[in-house]
Amino acid sequence: MGAARMGDMKLYTIILIITSLCMLLGCDAQDSFDKIQSEGELVVVSRNSPTTYYLAKDGPTGFEYALTGLLAEEMGVALRIKTAFNLYDLFTQLSDKDADIAAAGLTLTEGRAARYPHSIAYSQLTPQVVYVAGNFRPRSVSDLTTMDIVVLAESSHVDTLHTLQKNEAADLTWEEIDEADTMQLLELLKLGQADVAIVDSNEFAVQQSFYPRQKVAFDLYEEQDMVWYLAPDTDNTHLITFINTFLERLNSDGTMARLREEHFGHSDGVSRISAHVFTQNMRQTLPLYRRLIRQVATEYQMDWHLLAAMAYQESRWDPNATSPTGVRGMMMLTKPTARELGVENRLDVNQSLRGGARYLKDLKRRLPKRLQEPDRTWMALAAYNIGLGHLEDARVITQRQGSNPDLWQDVMQRLPLLQESKYYKKTRYGYARGKEAVTLVQNIRHYYSILVWQDIPDNQPTPPLHSEDYFPEGINNFRLQTF
Ligand code: GLU
Repeated sequence: MGAARMGDMKLYTIILIITSLCMLLGCDAQDSFDKIQSEGELVVVSRNSPTTYYLAKDGPTGFEYALTGLLAEEMGVALRIKTAFNLYDLFTQLSDKDADIAAAGLTLTEGRAARYPHSIAYSQLTPQVVYVAGNFRPRSVSDLTTMDIVVLAESSHVDTLHTLQKNEAADLTWEEIDEADTMQLLELLKLGQADVAIVDSNEFAVQQSFYPRQKVAFDLYEEQDMVWYLAPDTDNTHLITFINTFLERLNSDGTMARLREEHFGHSDGVSRISAHVFTQNMRQTLPLYRRLIRQVATEYQMDWHLLAAMAYQESRWDPNATSPTGVRGMMMLTKPTARELGVENRLDVNQSLRGGARYLKDLKRRLPKRLQEPDRTWMALAAYNIGLGHLEDARVITQRQGSNPDLWQDVMQRLPLLQESKYYKKTRYGYARGKEAVTLVQNIRHYYSILVWQDIPDNQPTPPLHSEDYFPEGINNFRLQTF
């Protein structure tokens, strides 16, 4: 007995020594690199935004999506993207090791570097102060002290503002907005609910074409590095070396420059990514269906901008759209839904739009009476994607967790839980692709607000001297054709 215990002790000591040596020298078996390889997937947490990761017609896209896709390819594994609702959520997912890497247009800051290992810089960005042309234009930090400033909560810009407050302008104040996408800040500017927003240069470059009245007032701070962060308290030695070698190669062989150009690039003031594609579609395709969309929307007593935004999200206004999963037409109806709605030919744009509008109206009617607008609409849109049963499950989880099941903001945080067995096992309708539903609703909201903005003449700026300096080309042409 005693001898056996002594033997055990020796074994323990040997294991302990090996483990300690491994930790000191970086044994391969423990490195996150090997974990990723053995699991066959690289899990990346990102933000759903036009500069990082979003769903386009042909599937997911975005700068970070493209870049981490190449990394996964190089590692010979699949890429799995998770989205965060805000920056706090993003870093929590990383801390909880729910993701291997955070790739989301993240700035290198001292505070973050102290907690999370990070890659070398793969891009640079400058924090900028954005204002609405025609209003007071601040030119220095001291001008900002009297203004309503909005900034993303937990962002690097909050750190920068604290530094400025300490060193330059003690009475600087700001409001931190709990979102993942800086477009929400620009939206507040548009609505007149804030005077200035602090946004990274690369993000503003892309989003400005959605908000032609908004301009850079001045650079808030010097250029900063964009990096990927890795999960803390893990042996990342091998993974970091691999990532850095990969990024260096992309930097030197021109791939990085090409990707940057593709995603943030500018030519004649027109952004090349989704904003450009959207404005181009608004100019070229929407006019073909605008009248019909308006007519159908009126019939179903809905806002035509919403129907147009839904149709854009579903098919990019393509009446012949067909997906490999068998959904078809302008509103991408499934066969059973179409049958239920009395749609005989899903490729008939008239029938498809009517079917979609009717389906949404139907879903809205079936939601509990107490749901108020606009939450009622956002929830109906989620149900349009995953069905009322799953939406109800997410609302039940929301309530159980002490949040408000009648608020979209609260429910959208629980919808992705329907993909986790821990949660869906206990729901009535089981597994659902809740994350996708959230992305779709957020995209529709995004397109909806652009369409609404374009259509309110009061909101449009007075023509500048050289209009091409002021509006992105796409928007100008769109205006000329439709107003
Ligand atoms: N780069 C920012 C950060 O790392 C996020 C984007 C923004 O707020 O403009 O916090």
